[in-house]
Amino acid sequence: MPEIRQNIVTKDWIIFATERAKRPEDFKKHFAKKEEKPDFSPNCPFCPGNENKTPPAILEIKKDNAWIIRVIPNKFSALVNEGIPQRKTSGIKRIINGVGVHEVIIETPAHNSTTGLMEEENVREIIQVYKKRYLDLEKDSRLSQIIIFKNHGKSAGTSLEHPHSQLIATPIVPASVRQRFEEAMRHYDENGVCVFCQMIEEEIKDQERLILEDDKFLAIIPYAAYSPFHIWILPKRHSASFGEINQEEIKSLAGILKNTLAKLYYGLDDPDYNYCIRSTSIDQKEVKYFHWYLAIVPKVTKIAGFELGSGMFINVSMPEESAKFLRELKI
Ligand SMILES: [Zn+2]
Ligand SMILES: [Zn+2]
Repeated sequence: MPEIRQNIVTKDWIIFATERAKRPEDFKKHFAKKEEKPDFSPNCPFCPGNENKTPPAILEIKKDNAWIIRVIPNKFSALVNEGIPQRKTSGIKRIINGVGVHEVIIETPAHNSTTGLMEEENVREIIQVYKKRYLDLEKDSRLSQIIIFKNHGKSAGTSLEHPHSQLIATPIVPASVRQRFEEAMRHYDENGVCVFCQMIEEEIKDQERLILEDDKFLAIIPYAAYSPFHIWILPKRHSASFGEINQEEIKSLAGILKNTLAKLYYGLDDPDYNYCIRSTSIDQKEVKYFHWYLAIVPKVTKIAGFELGSGMFINVSMPEESAKFLRELKI
């Protein structure tokens, strides 16, 4: 009998198709053989020596006189960093001019590197840069929401293979983000506790869906995960805004993120994935009901018509089994 589980944070229902459930190993990339990537690619705009192929850097982290991380404006920016957002309404039409920020974080000079295999110190530097940019943009009163994300691999939507992440800051709070805040607020009102703090407590007690844990963070596959190997990394300390992460937590997050991605790399043979940081909106910095986290979504299945039509997801893997597979995997 299939199970329909509810995601307590979003209130979405997910169908767990146990009848056609797959074993964790079945999600391994079996098709194409991994191509060997060079550590430098002459035509790559993100490789060292090609800095003139990108807009000038907003921020550069240097070591021994060479950059190790570069932040640049996106050349093909989705939003433009000029003017002020003005909202217009006419009948049922609503419009705001596309003011915002779109940046690229070039994570390393090495063309063929990947987060799961990097030195932990590099991952720490990347998170440090995320925080720097987050705090800087938070001061811009034109902006409402900052979204930091990474697309790894073609099916996750990346066109450049050089390791990079992106940041988009929007002048509005996106509808699905707003919905999460509202559900979390409702949970707080009804139960007097942050839904994420409660989830963390229960997941630590259950152990079944844990992948990794230290004293500051834990990585889990949520009880009602939307898709196979959909992972959440949550800080144990209640905090609504990613910008409030402290140095100790950055150190811990770097280790947990790197090791979780390494487990995916070895366990599923370097799957394509997206990750994103879900943080509160800029003007809701210290709320008690929301709790920031990082979500990793490996692209191991495709979204089809039913998902489109219903907003419900069908997951063909059980969170407990996938989490066990990753937890026990030695890296
Ligand atoms: Zn490159
Ligand atoms: Zn919390």
